Amino acid sequence: MTRIVVFGSTNMDLVAYARRAPARGETVAGHAFRTIPGGKGANQAVAAARAGGEVALVGAVGSDDFGYRLRDTLEHCSVDTDLLRTVEGPSGTAHIVVDDEGGNSIVVVPGANGTVTSLSHGDEALITGADLLLLQLELPLSAVVDAAAHARRHGVRTVLTPAPAQPLPPELFDATDLLVPNEHEAAVLTGRVDPHAAALALLDVVPEVVVTLGAAGCLYAARGADLLAVPAPRVRAVDTTAAGDTFVGALAVALGEGRPVPDALAWASAAAALSVRREGASTSMPYRAEIEAALG
Ligand code: ADP
Repeated sequence: MTRIVVFGSTNMDLVAYARRAPARGETVAGHAFRTIPGGKGANQAVAAARAGGEVALVGAVGSDDFGYRLRDTLEHCSVDTDLLRTVEGPSGTAHIVVDDEGGNSIVVVPGANGTVTSLSHGDEALITGADLLLLQLELPLSAVVDAAAHARRHGVRTVLTPAPAQPLPPELFDATDLLVPNEHEAAVLTGRVDPHAAALALLDVVPEVVVTLGAAGCLYAARGADLLAVPAPRVRAVDTTAAGDTFVGALAVALGEGRPVPDALAWASAAAALSVRREGASTSMPYRAEIEAALG
């Protein structure tokens, strides 16, 4: 089994379903509300576990009810939470509006995630023993850089999702093997709106890039190789929350199993397409058998 450590966030997603998201100063009526365990780190961990990886999550939950539920959900999804701290105060929360077209807008309040400012010896040992380390930007940036640099020093492959979008320090690019931005994040990092141009520009700072393009699939770029475009399966999108996290979790498992890149991308695309057909974040992620069935 692929051993994956996720160094990342846990958030309780507070999801309102409405015809459309409100504009500033406006109130719109919603038609449903759900609390769903999420956070980019937890989502990638659950996606990877369901896709067949052996997964541990390093991060923090709060001492509130959300924290208990977040940990419990991860454990039920077979994610190792031994190094998930519980800290005094609120858990991270994400306030999400999902519209009738399946689009979303999100405010994230870090809560406990903001306390993860350094790595313990236990965290470092866990990362050293992994095949891949998955990182996002919902924990303090200095700790993300430290985790990536530690993995790099020990030959552990690092996969960074640069979300929420923001400029990044060179040390983080230096410690990243595979960067997986969506179109928007790629544009923020490079100043290029065209995803082909952005993918090529990112090869100046990391050796491999996958730019995800929503329903249009993804673009893979690696130094010294031709750009590869992988279409997404055509599905009716109900909720695209965590499509990217499902994609990354499944991709990590496939790469860890040594699958060739085109196969790994097809596998990740199949997993993400399955997730957009269902509501929610972790609740929408497919199991390995479903991904295999979708690929036929
Ligand atoms: P994010 O969720 O990070 O914004 P994207 O929207 O680019 O990322 O989606 C990530 C991946 O999920 C895409 O590359 C694609 O494989 C899949 N995906 C997203 N939306 C759809 C859709 N409507 N139909 C099929 N696949 C989708």
